[in-house]
Amino acid sequence: MLLDLLDGALADRAGALAVDDLTYTDLHAGARRVARRLHERGVRTGDRVAIYSENRLGFAFAYLAALRLGAIAVPMNVLYRANDLAHALSDARPAVIACSASVVPFAEQANSGNATVVDVADVESWARTSEIRPYDSTERPQPDDVALIVYTSGTTGTAKGAMLSHGNLAAIASQVIAAWRWQACDTLLLALPLFHVHGLIAGLTASLCAGGRVVLRERFDARDALERLGGGDVTMFFGVPTMYVRLLEALAGRRPPPPLRLYVSGSAALPAELHRAFAQRFGASILERYGATEFGFALGNRYAGPRVPGSVGVPLPGVRVRVAAPHGAQPLPAGEIGELLVSGPNVFCGYWRRAAASREAFVTGDDATRWYRSGDLAQYDAERGVYRIVGRIKEVIITGGFNVYPREVEDAVEALPGVRACAVVGKPDPARGEMPVAFIETSEALDADSIAAALRECLASFKVPKEIRFVENLPRNAMGKVDKPALRASLDPTRIR
Ligand code: AMP
Repeated sequence: MLLDLLDGALADRAGALAVDDLTYTDLHAGARRVARRLHERGVRTGDRVAIYSENRLGFAFAYLAALRLGAIAVPMNVLYRANDLAHALSDARPAVIACSASVVPFAEQANSGNATVVDVADVESWARTSEIRPYDSTERPQPDDVALIVYTSGTTGTAKGAMLSHGNLAAIASQVIAAWRWQACDTLLLALPLFHVHGLIAGLTASLCAGGRVVLRERFDARDALERLGGGDVTMFFGVPTMYVRLLEALAGRRPPPPLRLYVSGSAALPAELHRAFAQRFGASILERYGATEFGFALGNRYAGPRVPGSVGVPLPGVRVRVAAPHGAQPLPAGEIGELLVSGPNVFCGYWRRAAASREAFVTGDDATRWYRSGDLAQYDAERGVYRIVGRIKEVIITGGFNVYPREVEDAVEALPGVRACAVVGKPDPARGEMPVAFIETSEALDADSIAAALRECLASFKVPKEIRFVENLPRNAMGKVDKPALRASLDPTRIR
């Protein structure tokens, strides 16, 4: 159970640093004081506590306080504005919204219910006020009780709240601790947003269960991260692929920091070229893993290696995966592309107030296993013994009856000189249904005809993009994922995102 793991680390590591310069005792006693204040404001078991803030200590205190109260923490993307925020708040109906000063006006505007808005700076000062009696209760949340609701990165107005229980969080934290050999002597540089499972669960929560230390950054800044990585005490860094691109750019002609024990990448595909370039400059082979809000993490390259560029490795301890024919649970033979199904104690309990969507998210196999349908296409490479993610089901381009998996084309384009990143989407075409179009992120003057010619050497002709557009920056969300609906909409303005 999650609180048992957190309290175990607290007992073992009472005086050790937990987050920045706060010890385990400071952090948990502070969270209990915040829990007391929230309890005085009427927050009870099952109530929602929204957290809408950059990575601040107040975020961590509010989250831990909600867990102590048996309330449900609801992290909100700090980039959410009017529509997204109003949707998430009216769906979650929190009792309290803890937010940073910079976004208080947005929270107040979108607060259609009667939630109390509190500033995370006040949360921080409650945590440090020794006169506040720390909250204590003999009633502990049960493993199936919901601990967290995280809104999926859907398009405006459609984001669904994925419910993760105390049992799910304990499982996810334990899985990454075991898979990545996490120890109490580890220090994690954490610049991923805490409003997402990557930063909140794999980063903060797992570190607090392992007894390690987190060095928290308000947001990612490549120069600052480079400096901190070179400080000598950091042993781990978790990032999304764009952070690794920025670290490489920031390093330029400088000396790299000493190799860390572990670099992890996830949330989007890590191009094989980037994996190689980073290994060459930083002397470290990034461990790529695959996950999603609904199950934390499912696959990852082996800690002991080999870390196969372009692959997401093997199932994490306790997780089962299957590559199945679309719409079913029948396993496909190795090498075939199908939907990735996931099962295990890490898999979420369903979507908040969305019974139909929750039912559709699962399929039951012959052996009564309930599989979560990831919506991702995967392939098992029997020769290397690893899985590969080929793309989202919805993103497959069907051109003249042939399937084009964007990832394959993107990998081929990204291997060409001068290309920083590439995203391939389908454009409606009267003759072929759709045709592949490549958006190439570059700061160089590249020639579309030479790129097409180079691609014809390595790809079947129907996979070669029929149109190439150069952009300085691909549109990306806060997790560095390319916003493909925006790219598709830019090709076909009549299409609804
Ligand atoms: P989110 O719920 O925002 O974490 O998004 C989860 C989605 O990110 C997955 O369903 C995948 O489509 C994508 N994703 C996460 N990790 C990877 C990875 N290593 N390679 C490719 N796609 C990934």
